[in-house]
Amino acid sequence: MHLLTRRDAIKGLPALACAVALPSWAVEGQAPIPGAAFDDAQLRAAFSGELIGRGSAAYDAARRTDNLAFDRHPLLVARCAGTDDAARALEFARRRGIPVAVRGGGHCQAGRSSCDDGVVIDLARLNEVSVDPARGTVSCGAGARIWQASEAAAQHGLALPLGTCGDVGVSGLTLGGGVGYLMGVAGAACDALLAADIVLADGRRLTVSEASDPDLMWALRGAGANFGIVTRLVFRAVRLEKVLAGMLTFPPPAAHDVLALANSLSTMLPDELSVFSQVIVLPDGGRRVEMGVCWAGNPAHGRAEIARLITAAVSPLEQPLRETTLAQFVGRGDSGSGPSCARFGVAQRSLPDSALAVLLERSDLPAFRLVFLDPLHGAITRQPAGPTSFPRVPMGAGVGFILGWEDAGQTRAVREWADRAWGELAPGMSQAYVNMLDDEGEARVREAYGGNYRRLQRLKSRYDPDNVFRSNQNIVPFAA
Ligand SMILES: Cc1cc2nc3c(=O)[nH]c(=O)nc-3n(C[C@H](O)[C@H](O)[C@H](O)COP(=O)(O)OP(=O)(O)OC[C@H]3O[C@@H](n4cnc5c(N)ncnc54)[C@H](O)[C@@H]3O)c2cc1C
Repeated sequence: MHLLTRRDAIKGLPALACAVALPSWAVEGQAPIPGAAFDDAQLRAAFSGELIGRGSAAYDAARRTDNLAFDRHPLLVARCAGTDDAARALEFARRRGIPVAVRGGGHCQAGRSSCDDGVVIDLARLNEVSVDPARGTVSCGAGARIWQASEAAAQHGLALPLGTCGDVGVSGLTLGGGVGYLMGVAGAACDALLAADIVLADGRRLTVSEASDPDLMWALRGAGANFGIVTRLVFRAVRLEKVLAGMLTFPPPAAHDVLALANSLSTMLPDELSVFSQVIVLPDGGRRVEMGVCWAGNPAHGRAEIARLITAAVSPLEQPLRETTLAQFVGRGDSGSGPSCARFGVAQRSLPDSALAVLLERSDLPAFRLVFLDPLHGAITRQPAGPTSFPRVPMGAGVGFILGWEDAGQTRAVREWADRAWGELAPGMSQAYVNMLDDEGEARVREAYGGNYRRLQRLKSRYDPDNVFRSNQNIVPFAA
């Protein structure tokens, strides 16, 4: 089944308007520093994976992350073959006092899984997934993508509460929370995280669980990027053979009605039903209106509930609902990239019509816009606050936009537009979500963790007092 994921949408935004040659995206960041003025011979001798330096033909592709609005130039990309490699690359960087960036799937909206003049510890090759059907657990290497974990789980009649786009990294998503189609029945991805292997800033290697280190486990479930290099994650899966799911498409004039409906749904949705709605707005005003719906329960009841709550209210053009695995519905995505700028928040109350108008109507934007409004409901809102640093989300909606543009000269204008529009929307938002933060500054990181931020600072001071892991949405340790 072809499903238009949010990645497809952003990547495909320019193509929806016209066929233009994509420019090269040297949008932000410094020019590469030629030459490698440091000795990496010892590291090379011990490293099992691949070390990609500035002279390598593979360097340009290896240094980039998914969001091409950020253009960083590390000294070295260390494609690790295992935990030993990750530890060695970390030690190498620490001894030289150069920056470290850790990369799972490379989808960080703020481009923090690359860095300038440091070492990128790239875990993409650690992508093995194993399933223990009897225990109902799934173990993922830190480089696994959502599609890989989901397909492996599906083979045993299991599913994981990961995100809605198959090519996003399991580790970045989970370590920052993780919201997807099973939020109603199983909560966030980090709620399902049972254990993790980690290399700490001081080089120690641990297998962490609730029993072995409840503080660190709490920190990993929502703020994990700040605490070390996670090389393996173990999840409790849900027993779920099939879902009833599909991408409903609506006529363009229905955009407002679809968002207004999504805006009202969180208190009405049964746990089994999750919906993610999106409107693509083109610079010329053209629109594409979609709603991904997924029912994780008895399909016969699902059809009735989807009809009652959604299609009776707004008529779709297409209604391709079918019984399938969650893995098939989410799909594999596509690791294509483009420059983008996002703003996102959680709205606890229904947004007023004026907010929907900001999202849909403002026409002074030289870019393509993907607007989304995702009702938050069920288990993800009910989990006790205790076990995770990912703050509980209220019943409400995740609301925001991603802007994509074609011409590097438009970057500043697009970002200014994002700030202005968000300035109008922000009063209706109760919290930020760390996984959807762009390069928005420390105050937004604090907003994302709310009352958990100070405890995270205390733990950061214990586990990473020198802030080695700072190429992320950073929690600043207390001064020593
Ligand atoms: C197209 C698209 C769709 C998305 N859909 C959803 C969605 O449905 N639900 C949702 O909740 N979010 C979604 N997101 C947001 C997504 O959860 C975050 O961007 C997430 O951080 C991506 O993880 P990654 O491993 O791919 O990224 P990376 O860029 O590799 O990493 C993100 C951050 O985590 C750190 N990190 C990654 N792996 C590790 C590790 N193993 N150990 C320590 N630190 C690590 C990195 O240093 C970086 O700071 C989406 C993003 C995109 C671009």
